[in-house]
Amino acid sequence: MSQTSSPAANQAFAELGLGPELLSALTLLGYEEPTPIQQAAIPHLLAGRDLLGLAATGTGKTAAFALPLLQLIETGGKVPQVLILVPTRELAVQVAQAVHRYGREMSVEVLPIYGGQSFHQQLKVLKRGVDVVVATPGRALDHIRRGTLHLGGLIALVLDEADEMLDMGFAEDLDAILAEVPKKRQTLLFSATLGARITSIAAKYLIDPVEVRIKAEDETSGDVPLVRQTAYLVRRPHKLVALGRVLDLESPEAALIFCRTRNDVDDLVEALNGRGYRAEAMHGGMSQEERDRTMKKLRANAVDLLVATDVAARGLDISHLTHVVNYDVPSAPKSYVHRIGRVGRAGREGVAITLAEPREHSLLRNIERLTKQKITVESLPTVADLQARRLELTRASVRESILEGGLERFRVVVESLSDEFDLVDIALGAVKMGHEASLSGTDTDDEEIPTETPFQEKKRAGSQPNKSPSFKGKGGPERSGSVKRLYIGVGRAAGVRPKDLVGAIAGEAGIHGRQIGSIQIAEKFSIVEVFDGVADQVMQALRGARIKGQKVTVREDRGR
Ligand code: AMP
Repeated sequence: MSQTSSPAANQAFAELGLGPELLSALTLLGYEEPTPIQQAAIPHLLAGRDLLGLAATGTGKTAAFALPLLQLIETGGKVPQVLILVPTRELAVQVAQAVHRYGREMSVEVLPIYGGQSFHQQLKVLKRGVDVVVATPGRALDHIRRGTLHLGGLIALVLDEADEMLDMGFAEDLDAILAEVPKKRQTLLFSATLGARITSIAAKYLIDPVEVRIKAEDETSGDVPLVRQTAYLVRRPHKLVALGRVLDLESPEAALIFCRTRNDVDDLVEALNGRGYRAEAMHGGMSQEERDRTMKKLRANAVDLLVATDVAARGLDISHLTHVVNYDVPSAPKSYVHRIGRVGRAGREGVAITLAEPREHSLLRNIERLTKQKITVESLPTVADLQARRLELTRASVRESILEGGLERFRVVVESLSDEFDLVDIALGAVKMGHEASLSGTDTDDEEIPTETPFQEKKRAGSQPNKSPSFKGKGGPERSGSVKRLYIGVGRAAGVRPKDLVGAIAGEAGIHGRQIGSIQIAEKFSIVEVFDGVADQVMQALRGARIKGQKVTVREDRGR
C-alpha cells in the first residue's frame, strides 16, 4: 500500500501547533487525526500551562502530553528536562517507547527507569545525558538520593496514571520527588478517576491548571442504532488469533474492521490475507483511485473485510455491511457510536464487536454511559466452540445437498457398502469426508489464548465462584444449565494444547464439543469447563484415559 503523506492529517496536528519534525513522525506512525484529548490538551501544553487530564489509557493521552513537551525541550543536554512518573515498569517501558517514537526525528534521548533493572546500566545512560526520563517513583527516588538523577534542569513533570500511583502507595515518594524539582516548571497530572486524593494532590502540585476531561456523560447520545454489542478482552499479542476466531464464529457477510493507525490497517490486512481471509485496506494514505478500486471490489463481493481508520471510513456507504469490528477500543466514545452506526441500518440486525485490552476495560464503561446500551463482555470462542460451529456448517451443507436432490448416482456406492457396514456408519464416513474437505485450506487455528474474561475480572473482584456464562453458540438444549470446572493434572509442560483436551474429552467421554466451554492451560494443569450434566461422565472417562501419553488426575475444581 502506498505511504503517501496525508496533508489533511498533518494539517489537523499542525493546527494544534506541532512542528515539522513531530508532524513527520506522526505521518510515519500512520496517525490520521488527533484524538479528543490531544485536541484539547496540546495547545495549552504548548502555551506552558499546567494540566489536569482526566483520561484513561486508550484515549491517546501519552501523545497528548509527550508531543507538546518534546516540542518545548532542547535536546542534547546533559540533564533531563522532562520527568514522567508512572505506576508500573510496564508503563515505564511503554511510555518511553512512545516518547522515542514521537521524538525520533529530534534525536530525543529517553530512558525508562524502574526497579528490578540494573542500576549500573541506568547509570551509564544517565551519565551520557538524557532528555526525558520515564520512571516509577520508588526507583526515581533511589537515584535522586544516590545523586545519580539530577532534576535541576526539569522544565516539566508528568504524573501519569496518578490514581494508580496513589493506590500503589507512592504518595510519600511523590512528595519527596516533588521537593527536588525546580519550582518553576510545568506540571501535568493524568488520572482516570477524580477522587478526593487526586483533587488534593492536584491542588498541591498544579498551578492554575487547565482541566481536560473526556466527558462521556455530557455528549448527547443522539440516536444510537440497535446493534448487538459484544466485547472480548484480549491482550495485544493475541488479537490476531482472537479476531480470526471471532470472524469464523460470526461468519460476517461483510465487515468493517477499525484500526487506530494507517500502519495498523496495512499490517492487519496483510495478516488477514495471509490467513485466507479476503481483506482490503482503506486509509488516508491511499489515493482516490485506490479507494474507488477497493470500494468496487467490496460492492462486487470480491472482498468481505474492509480494514479502515476512522478518517478513511467517514462517508463510506456500504449497504450490505453486517458487522463492525473494533480491533482496538476507539479513543473516544463518540467515534464508537459513529463506527457502529455503520450497521443495523434499515431495520436489519447489526453486530458490533470490540477487542479490548484488559486495561482498556474502563473505556468500555465510558461508551456504555454514552450510548446507554450494554456491551456484553464475553470470553473468546474456544477451540471447542469453533469445532462445534464447523460441524454445524457441515450439517447445514449435508441437509442442503439432500434437499437439492440428484443423489441417485451415488446410491450404488451406499448399497455396495451396505453389505459390509451399517447405514449410519456409511453416512458418518461420508459426512467426515465432506467435513474434512470443507476445512482444507482454512486456517484451523488452535493457538492457546489465555482467558482474559470477565470471569477472571470477577475473580479478582472476589465475586461469585463456579458460575461462568462462557458458553456461546446458537441456542440448543445443551447450551443451558450450569457449568462445572474440572481440574486436569496435565498442562503446558507436557505439551498439552486445547485441542488435545477437547479431543480427549469428546473422544473418551463421547460427549459433544459444544458441551465443553472455556479451557485454560497452566504450566502443570488445565481447567476445563463442561456442562454440569456431563461432568461426572467426563471425569470417569478421563480417569481411565491418557492425555499426551500420561495418566492424569481429574477432579472437580472448587478453587474459586
Ligand atoms: P494511550 O491512551 O496513550 O495509551 O494510547 C493508546 C493508543 O493509541 C496507542 O497505541 C497510540 O499509539 C495510539 N494513538 C495515540 N494517538 C493516536 C492518534 N492520534 N491516532 C491514532 N492512534 C493514536
